Amino acid sequence: MINVSQARKIILKNISPVKETELINLDSCSGRVSAVDIRAKENIPPFDNSAMDGFAVRAEDSAGAARENPRVFEVISDLAAGYTTAKKIGNNQAIRIMTGAPIPKGADSVVMAEDSQKVSSKRKEEFVRIFREVKKGENVRYAGEDVKKGEVVIRKGDILKSGYIGMLASLGVSKIKVYRKPKAAILATGDELVEINQRLVPGKIRNSNTYSLYAQAQRAGAVPVFLGIARDERKELEQKIRKGLRADMLLVSGGISVGDYDFVKDVLKKLGTTMKFWRVAMKPGKPLAFGMIDKIPIFGLPGNPVSSMVTFEQFVRPALLKMTGAKEIFRFHLPAIFREDFQKKMGLRYFLRVVLENKNGTLYASLTGPQGSGILKSMVLANGIMELPEELENLRPGDTAQVTYLD
Ligand code: AMP
Ligand code: MG
Repeated sequence: MINVSQARKIILKNISPVKETELINLDSCSGRVSAVDIRAKENIPPFDNSAMDGFAVRAEDSAGAARENPRVFEVISDLAAGYTTAKKIGNNQAIRIMTGAPIPKGADSVVMAEDSQKVSSKRKEEFVRIFREVKKGENVRYAGEDVKKGEVVIRKGDILKSGYIGMLASLGVSKIKVYRKPKAAILATGDELVEINQRLVPGKIRNSNTYSLYAQAQRAGAVPVFLGIARDERKELEQKIRKGLRADMLLVSGGISVGDYDFVKDVLKKLGTTMKFWRVAMKPGKPLAFGMIDKIPIFGLPGNPVSSMVTFEQFVRPALLKMTGAKEIFRFHLPAIFREDFQKKMGLRYFLRVVLENKNGTLYASLTGPQGSGILKSMVLANGIMELPEELENLRPGDTAQVTYLD
C-alpha cells in the first residue's frame, strides 16, 4: 500500500494538460485558465491624474502652508474626470480638480479639498486658501504606476479571477484564449443504487456520489459527463466504462474494494488498463485505484459517500486542475488549533471534516460530528479538512494541525 504523497505523485506524473484552446469573451471567462501570456499594450492609468478631489497646484507654492499660515491661490479653472484643459498653472494658481481628472500643465501635486477653504470675494476671480504644504507628486497617480506598457499581466496557466478580468477590461482586451475544459465522465456502480427520481424499495439507496462528484468536477474546472449507474455485473460495467473512455478522464465510484461483487478492477484490466495502484494508506478512502487506458486516466473511487468526496478532493481535483492547464493545483494549507480529542491509527493519513472558526485571528477547528465514511453530513457541515500525518497517533485539544479551507 502506498501513501498519499506517493499516490499524488504517480497520478500527476500521468496527467497531461489539455492542448486545445478556445477564444472566449471576457464576460464568460471567469475561472477559466489562460492559454496565453498577455502583455499590456497601454499604460494603466493612461495619464497622470488626481487621486483626490481638490486643487492641482505647484508644490513649491504651498511651501510652509499651515492652518495658521494659509497660502492663497487663484483658481483659474475647474476640471472634472473625463475632461482635459489647455490651461496651464502659473505661480500661485490652482485648478479645482476631481478624482481621476488629468493633472493640468504646470501642476505637480494636488491639495485635498479638505485642506482648503474658499476665499469669499466680490471680485470676478476666485481664490482659495490652502492649509497644508504638499510635496511634489502628492495625490498624483502617475501614468503606468499600476501597469507599464509591455508588462506581462497574465501568464499562461493563470486561473482568471475577477481581478484579472478587470485588468483585461482596463487594457481593452475583449476576448481571451483559454484552454478547453477537460471532460470527466462519472460512473456509479452498485446493485443497491437507484436514480434520484426513482422510488426507494427495501434494500436500495439513492445514487448520491454521482452528484457530489459532478459538482466537485465542475468546481475543479471540468465538464462532468453522466454515465448513470452500472449494476455489479461485468458486461454492464464494461459497456459503460467503454463509453466513459470518450472523455478526458473517467471516474468510477464504488466496486473497487474487496467485496464479492467488486468487479471494477477486473473489468478495467480486461479493457487494457495499466493499473498504477489500488490502495492508499489513508482514512477515509483506502480503496482507491488509479490506472491509465492509453492517455485516459481512470480513478476507481471508494463507494462510501465521504470517501468518494475526500479522495476526489485529494487526488482528482489536482489532477483535473492540471488537465485544465492551471499552474496552481493545490489548496493552501494553514495551521489550526484543534479543539477535541481524536485517536487515530498509525500509518494512515487522516482527513477529518472540521468546522473552522477564526477567533481573534487564530484559526480553530472542531469536528463536524461522527467521522464515519458514510456520514455525508460531515461533508455538509465541514468548511475545512484537517490533515493528520501518518506518524501521528492522537490529537489533544490545543494541538495544532494543518487544514485546508474549502470555499
Ligand atoms: P462499494 O465501494 O461499492 O463497496 O460501496 C461502499 C458503500 O458505499 C456501500 O455502502 C454502498 O452502498 C455505498 N455507495 C456506493 N456507491 C454509492 C453511490 N453512488 N451513492 C451513494 N452511496 C454509494
Ligand atoms: Mg458496490
